[in-house]
Amino acid sequence: MATHRTKMLIIGSGPAGYSAAIYGARAMMEPIVVQGLQPGGQLTITTDVENYPGFADVIQGPWLMEQMQKQAEHVGTKMMWDTIVDVDIAGGSPFRAVGDSGDEYIGDVLVIATGAQAKWLGAPGEQELGGKGVSACATCDGFFYRGKKVAVIGGGNTAVEEALYLTNHSQDVTLIHRRDELRAEKILQERLLKHPNITVQWNKAVSSFEGDPMGAGLTHLALKDTVTGEESTLDVDGAFVAIGHAPATELFKGKLPMDDGGYLLVEPGTPMTSIPGVFACGDVMDHTYRQAVTAAGTGCMAALDAERFLATLDFAEQEAEAAE
Ligand code: NDP
Repeated sequence: MATHRTKMLIIGSGPAGYSAAIYGARAMMEPIVVQGLQPGGQLTITTDVENYPGFADVIQGPWLMEQMQKQAEHVGTKMMWDTIVDVDIAGGSPFRAVGDSGDEYIGDVLVIATGAQAKWLGAPGEQELGGKGVSACATCDGFFYRGKKVAVIGGGNTAVEEALYLTNHSQDVTLIHRRDELRAEKILQERLLKHPNITVQWNKAVSSFEGDPMGAGLTHLALKDTVTGEESTLDVDGAFVAIGHAPATELFKGKLPMDDGGYLLVEPGTPMTSIPGVFACGDVMDHTYRQAVTAAGTGCMAALDAERFLATLDFAEQEAEAAE
């Protein structure tokens, strides 16, 4: 078990964490990034990315994250393949974190970039059939349903994108949405509604996922009309739950203020949390935009504010020494 000491400790390795690291390293803060269970974050379970500025051609999510990691390392960031399981931040800087490995990490500033994770419906059968027909990532698992019947649950951008993506593999895609109106961007809605291989089941909720976890896996969904209450079934081989995300803030419960959804609260327009020297960036503090580019932007902001915070600390130390 080792102790790792740095000026800038970053927890999380999505676009926010890596961008904070790139800026932090270039400001000589010698960052350490503790990467967590899914190095690279949500983009590593995506395929095509066509909205990250700077690339005329469509790029791949995992490739983009690989580039960000390499760039952060190239300018002087140390990557740790560990998962933080406890933090001690109440006493102010320096902040202490403990990894799953037993290693201890100490940082003069702490940047929280732990991101968010997919939400589940909590309906019967969902967990039991997880990986056996039920998934939260069409881009990861869609391939397994080549030529089969699939459904996507949700009405936001993710659900619509996943339904469209699944048409690469399946000719029978159903989108199940609990209302009669989609939340997704208009351009995506248009693509979805025009697609000959996609059917939308409006005003439907999934009451249960049915099938045999030990045998054939998922066979059908039990549905309930959210307006009339009428029950029906839909035969499917695969169902993709795409109903949004939950921020990864378990570590900070009772330690930092959060909103009702568990997102970390920051001073508006900044990445500053209620504890000076602790910054939050990316999806963990942003339930509105949640884009790779906005996460990267707030990561940059966290590093710039971290630098200012350290300068104030140095100044305070010099003053104290001069007074002795
Ligand atoms: P959203 O929160 O935008 O949408 C979640 C969807 O799931 C909503 O339609 C919601 O229904 C539905 N839903 C939520 N809970 C339940 C439930 N218990 N049962 C049934 N349905 C439920 O999440 P997304 O993941 O789609 O998007 C998150 C953010 O990321 C958004 O800001 C989005 O714009 C962005 N994004 C952008 C992309 C891009 O630009 N390429 C790609 C993917 C995401 P209801 O509408 O009734 O509330």
